[in-house]
Amino acid sequence: MICFLGIETSCDETAAAVVTSAGRVLSNVVHSQIALHQPHGGVVPEIASRAHVELLPGIVERAISEAGIAWDEIDGIAVTSEPGLASALLVGVAAAQALALRLDRPLVAVNHIEAHLRSIFLGEGCPLDRALPTVALVVSGGHTCLIELSPDRAPRLLGQTLDDAAGEALDKGAKLMGLGYPGGPAIEAAAAGGDSKRVAFPRGGVTSAIEGLDPALCFSFSGLKTALRYYLRDHPEALNAEHLPHVAASYEEAVVSVLVERLESALTKTGASQAAAAGGVARNRRLRSRLAEMAARRGVRLGLAAPEFCSDNAAMVAAVAAAGFGRSVRPIGALDIRPTAPIGLETP
Ligand code: AMP
Ligand code: MG
Repeated sequence: MICFLGIETSCDETAAAVVTSAGRVLSNVVHSQIALHQPHGGVVPEIASRAHVELLPGIVERAISEAGIAWDEIDGIAVTSEPGLASALLVGVAAAQALALRLDRPLVAVNHIEAHLRSIFLGEGCPLDRALPTVALVVSGGHTCLIELSPDRAPRLLGQTLDDAAGEALDKGAKLMGLGYPGGPAIEAAAAGGDSKRVAFPRGGVTSAIEGLDPALCFSFSGLKTALRYYLRDHPEALNAEHLPHVAASYEEAVVSVLVERLESALTKTGASQAAAAGGVARNRRLRSRLAEMAARRGVRLGLAAPEFCSDNAAMVAAVAAAGFGRSVRPIGALDIRPTAPIGLETP
């Protein structure tokens, strides 16, 4: 059995985990820095990187001890090296390099989006068959994309957002509604009991193509945020306790319905027999139930990343390397971060 230690510090989660080549998660330690960033209404890179420096050694030690293994039972180190906040990525990469040198083990650089993508297979009871073609929606605070995963090919990007990510649209919308940060869970809570048809927010169709991508599989969320701003300006009563649930539910629905429709279009276009979703926004219950309805109606298998593997974590990073993917780095000192790396996924 091969064991990989994974390290993730690309944004505001400080995380370490141990995963085996059979895909078993032996430990998954995540420290969310939300409380540190909340007063600022968003992630402050300098605060994030300083907190990573302070927290990471303890988090790595916990990941090893909770896995019930000794340091020399680690067979390799996997670390997120792209994309993400530069100063935050550097902390994880420096720690991973130090550990790889000290333990004399291989170092594998992992793309954060690929880690989210492969998180669909993590944990017990994953319904997906790795041998079948799958279309996955990776939907987080920084990214929104559709990726085709086939057993005999490198992952293929089918579509992505032209502007804001879905999580960003929720975070910005929540800010406008005075609901605080992070916005996704706040909107989900505020939308409880609300009528999602009350306000007709735009669904952001895309007409101009990004090179090589089908516009029908791309997303645009910036118009939605602007529509909310004008709606709130013209309806001062919208933030009253009586109306807020309807506005929040309508806004949440505008985001969710576009995600479900685009994923369904991608299934039609590719003929894939499995659908999947991962990333922080995939924790959303409305999205999960709408995807389940769509998959049942089409008769396709659906794999939703478990909630603990949706938000940023290191188990998904270790899992990429443990499955034989990611980029092997030699010499270890040669690994550099790529903060704005495209979604371009590394081939095995
Ligand atoms: P990530 O970038 O993967 O760490 O995910 C963070 C993003 O997920 C943020 O934009 C959050 O607002 C969003 N998010 C987290 N939980 C939920 C939820 N329950 N519903 C919708 N969005 C969520
Ligand atoms: Mg992420």
